[in-house]
Amino acid sequence: MKFSAQKGTKDILPSEIYRWQKAEQTFASVCHSFGYEEIRIPTFEQTDLFARGVGDTTDVVTKEMYTFEDKGGRSITLRPEGTAGVARSFIENGMTSLPTPVRLFYNITAFRYEKMQKGRYREFHQFGLEAFGAEGPSIDAEIISVVDIFFKKMGLENIGLRINSIGCPKCRAEYNKLLKDHFRPHIGEMCEDCRERFEKNPLRMIDCKIDGSKDIVKNAPRLIDYLCEDCKAHFEGLKSELDALGVKYEIDPNIVRGLDYYSRTVFEFVSENVGTQGTICGGGRYDGLIGIMDGPATPGIGFAMGVERLLIEAEAQGKLPEKPSHVRLYVAAMSDAAKKTASKLCYDLRLAGIGCETDLAGRSFRAQMKYAGKQEIPYLVVIGDDELANGEVKIKNMANGEETPVKLDEIVKYCQDNIV
Ligand code: ATP
Ligand code: MG
Repeated sequence: MKFSAQKGTKDILPSEIYRWQKAEQTFASVCHSFGYEEIRIPTFEQTDLFARGVGDTTDVVTKEMYTFEDKGGRSITLRPEGTAGVARSFIENGMTSLPTPVRLFYNITAFRYEKMQKGRYREFHQFGLEAFGAEGPSIDAEIISVVDIFFKKMGLENIGLRINSIGCPKCRAEYNKLLKDHFRPHIGEMCEDCRERFEKNPLRMIDCKIDGSKDIVKNAPRLIDYLCEDCKAHFEGLKSELDALGVKYEIDPNIVRGLDYYSRTVFEFVSENVGTQGTICGGGRYDGLIGIMDGPATPGIGFAMGVERLLIEAEAQGKLPEKPSHVRLYVAAMSDAAKKTASKLCYDLRLAGIGCETDLAGRSFRAQMKYAGKQEIPYLVVIGDDELANGEVKIKNMANGEETPVKLDEIVKYCQDNIV
């Protein structure tokens, strides 16, 4: 029987892994430059954590979770996102008493039972971060600038930032009444999900993938026009901080993250290149989340970025990195005695951190040269009986054909200085 990868999953092969590694390293280094530290959370959690922490009216929780009973009869879910797990860990590990803001970043796989499309998979990857304990708009601007700087470091341009405010429970209660009055006469024309949202969480109707393009949704009152004074000041504060940083944005009143514990700032980074799945990164403030998970009331904000979508964007912009050559030197050996010297040389080179290869397959000298060429190894050294007798070799730069004589016992030093 032949096995194949499950629908919606993908192997990341050596031929493309360096793109991922470049993105991972760049993200980590940008996060570090702001004082964010990495956290690694488990792949699965108890199902209730997501029902509560993501919200049981969201598509993610109602339709997309990989949930199963384990052998101990517990309901387990593969994480569909990172925030709930990080928030759990933050509370469970006493991070609530650390000096604020507590800055955490992560790089995870996430699982959602979704219909496969370009940029939409069942197992996918997210870079994200969470900042706990800071209330004012400066941290909102900070996390947005993490994404902005990250894109710049990846060489990406023109990924549109859209921001919005969805207010606080106070302004939203007023607004929900208005929204329900607006939708009530038309509720019969709305999709089944929206009819349920109308009862439980009308704000989510704005975000509906089915009804979202209808006039009735487009003409709905906008929460941004009904913010309370505090929420308005927060949003104005964010805008002026972004202006001061020179980070460009558009205000998009249709971005919602319609859960009770999401509040104020929400934002997305969107690109045309990723097709209909245009959102590369989404984030927002969740001042109620830690409280709702029975932790001490703590403001929080974060974002998550789809790494597959990021790489689709990098490819579309022609900004994928070059494949690095980890193996810098090929050591060709022309005799059995030379092979021994070659093996020991490779050992010493690797100990010094220099990537190299020598033949293990019993190839002829010609076949060794062919192999080294095919692997595009940038430097070559040939060891034969003459070289052993003289104690000197030539190191050849394959790109320009230049040869440099080097003493056998000085090869490691030469390579450290010249070919790493
Ligand atoms: P969408 O509207 O595209 O379904 P979402 O609102 O469900 O996105 P979030 O929960 O905000 O997405 O996740 C943050 C980011 O993770 C998204 O902006 C996207 O880049 C990525 N993402 C979400 N779901 C998937 C998926 N199934 N496959 C690949 N990437 C995904
Ligand atoms: Mg989704």
